[in-house]
Amino acid sequence: MSVLTTLQFNDDPEHITSQNDYVEYSKWVHSHSPAIQRLLGLSEDYVPGAEKAYLDHGKPAIFCSGYNWEPIFVYSLGVTPVAYTEMGRYSEREDMLTAEEFYQFPVETCSMVKCTVGQWHKRLTTGSIKRLLGNSSSCEPFNLAFEVMRKRGYDVFNNEVLYRGPTVHGDRLEALIQFMVEQLLDVAEWVTGERKVDESSLKREIARKNRLLTKLKRILELRVLHPFYMKTLAIILTLNVGLNNYFGKPEEYEKAIDSLIQELESAKVNDSDLKSVIPLVWAGGTGQEFGVYEAIDNAGGALLGLRSAPFRYVREDVPPLEAIARWVYDNTAAGAGVFARNVIEAEVEKLKAKGIILYGYIGCSFASVDREMWRRYFHEKGHPCLNLEGSFQTGSPSGQVLTRVKAFIEMLAANR
Ligand code: SF4
Repeated sequence: MSVLTTLQFNDDPEHITSQNDYVEYSKWVHSHSPAIQRLLGLSEDYVPGAEKAYLDHGKPAIFCSGYNWEPIFVYSLGVTPVAYTEMGRYSEREDMLTAEEFYQFPVETCSMVKCTVGQWHKRLTTGSIKRLLGNSSSCEPFNLAFEVMRKRGYDVFNNEVLYRGPTVHGDRLEALIQFMVEQLLDVAEWVTGERKVDESSLKREIARKNRLLTKLKRILELRVLHPFYMKTLAIILTLNVGLNNYFGKPEEYEKAIDSLIQELESAKVNDSDLKSVIPLVWAGGTGQEFGVYEAIDNAGGALLGLRSAPFRYVREDVPPLEAIARWVYDNTAAGAGVFARNVIEAEVEKLKAKGIILYGYIGCSFASVDREMWRRYFHEKGHPCLNLEGSFQTGSPSGQVLTRVKAFIEMLAANR
């Protein structure tokens, strides 16, 4: 990792080309906030820290998607969930080539999958984590990647597809919930060797999740008063990644969140910030093209709403396995795109957002259909949308992506 010096950041932040340097840069930008710096540090250390703890101290860990139900459940089993989607930021062209040339993934395959395959390949001989919780609800390219890695020696477990159609209610929904409870027990058996869960441990994790949802909601409320205190990259990592998996360190994450709330509560409201801000809602993936976030900040935008932001609590009045299943089928990731669209719409209305940025990866036919449907829907309702396609590999975003972000925000500013 080439960490740039403060002087270089001052001179020309635009020459940053690696994701790690963007995070370092963001720490420097947030020199006013020890809490945000801590959160960025936790994000930086997530994958390397979990791998080190696994290698040096035998701390159990598995790769998994790192969002939705998986982290809550995996933590309750005493294991660290390591989000394979976070490995993209360490990837280089060489990793893409490994996927394309060694594993014969078609060139047009989504870059997220190719980067991840390249990263898993690098770990074949390092003694690092070799267990991988896949998920058949993932897209086809990722399912192919899970199978390829199984053949290469990873211990892979895939639960069945968890999908709720928009018209599924009543008995059909109850049957799905029972189905998922069985799936969770299957996962527990694969992880621990026993087809059972420690209910008190799962209840603790559910309570932690709900507590953090409340705290992050508070941060989102405070950000409306202090839109520029926490810049785009920092909030997207804290919410879209950290809130899902706590960067592998739940206690430290929660402490940093508590400190951030204290900082925001004691910060002075700046009226000119409130007048100049262009509130935006972000929907889609957490892009690894961190320069896009920088472009949003520079153009005067502030991501105040995020699709993956907290909305639903996990029920604590039913048995914990059932609670997880109900939460999955009631949440944005239930399957049909309409569940996520409703959440985006609620955010847009609550924040009086000026625009919506829909972000996905080149080569993802799966999410691009949802994004196009959402774009049309919001466009018809008079909400400006920018539909961006980016790449997952390390490096600066393309000039075209940056130009579109800038032009979009300038257009919103002009129409204020
Ligand atoms: S961006 Fe699309 S193709 Fe790529 S991993 Fe995600 S769902 Fe799959």
